[in-house]
Amino acid sequence: MSATKPAWFVFPPHLTGLDRFEAGKPIGEVQRELGLTHVVKLASNENPLGPSPRAVEAGRAALAEVNRYPDPQATELRAALSAHLGMPASHIVAGNGSVEIVDLIARAFLGPGDNAVISEHAFVRFRQIVAAHNHGVRHVPMRDWTHDLAAMARAIDGATRLVFIANPNNPTGTWNRRAEVEALVAALPPGCLLVLDEAYFEYTDEPDYPNGIDLVRRGAPVIVTRTFSKVYGLGGLRAGYAVAAPEVLEALLVIREAFGTNVVAQAAARAALGDVDHVRRSVAMNAAEKPRLVRALADRGFRVLPSLANFVTFDTGTGGREVFRRLLARGVIVRPLDPYAMGSWLRVSVGTPEENDAFLVALDAVLPGKRP
Ligand code: PMP
Repeated sequence: MSATKPAWFVFPPHLTGLDRFEAGKPIGEVQRELGLTHVVKLASNENPLGPSPRAVEAGRAALAEVNRYPDPQATELRAALSAHLGMPASHIVAGNGSVEIVDLIARAFLGPGDNAVISEHAFVRFRQIVAAHNHGVRHVPMRDWTHDLAAMARAIDGATRLVFIANPNNPTGTWNRRAEVEALVAALPPGCLLVLDEAYFEYTDEPDYPNGIDLVRRGAPVIVTRTFSKVYGLGGLRAGYAVAAPEVLEALLVIREAFGTNVVAQAAARAALGDVDHVRRSVAMNAAEKPRLVRALADRGFRVLPSLANFVTFDTGTGGREVFRRLLARGVIVRPLDPYAMGSWLRVSVGTPEENDAFLVALDAVLPGKRP
């Protein structure tokens, strides 16, 4: 942005006061700014093992065809997802990351005067997207850092068209059980949809964790979003998808940019879906390292939230952003949670054993009082 505003410029008044999404700091930027050679990024819940080699190979082959526009229907990717999920391809739409689909949902289903129900510390993009489209948000406090679905059902009014929940939620990592989600679905009035963001679905390992696609299968008013950015290791390519009734997806398709998922992303995502071993290794590493990280933080006296995802959220007991800065100076990037009104908390992604050790060593150096 230029230092002096051009005389002709008027910032859109309806966007005044909106906050931008603060992404995890890129490794290269931290290296340049701080002159560090070794940087550990545990800030964006990415797959620390990298993408599947099969996805890389498929993406590389697809590069040779990028003079052609993508298949707007992502036919082959949707066919692979259909087989993987046991849902007809007519119930699946691919997007440029799953958040593109969240944006489409807000644009498609919220009209003038409508609102969305979102809980207080929910994935921040829900609130930001709804507000950016100039619609109202009915905020509902959490209970024990978990979406309070009964309170969310009570917050629905005559103008509510969408209810958003991420299950498990980012940044808290907490999750809602099957019976609670089903009770919320049963409470939805006609014309109101539940958006169920399952970005971390593949990491979940609790018997009482509900699979949102079962709800769609039963004809419930639910849109499930999932992504290739997390366990599949393709965050940089931007590929996600939604599962819902074809009538719901039709509303998204009439407003979307025609070529949602690019050629390389479609090919790589399809290959990643087929690399079951890579997914299994990634989930196994998370399952081994997450409890170790939780224990290490709890041993140091931090309050740690129970997480069903590939990250851990803990209360530093002091200014989270200041601790984030001090960790950054030591080459460890985590996520400060002040944009989530959790000013003393930090979120750290579960990395490789070496990355997690580097984080703990840096934490002990910047918060020595908390050493066991
Ligand atoms: N939903 C949730 C709950 C997330 O935490 C994230 C990652 N920050 C996303 C969606 C992003 O998904 P995508 O990369 O597919 O847009």
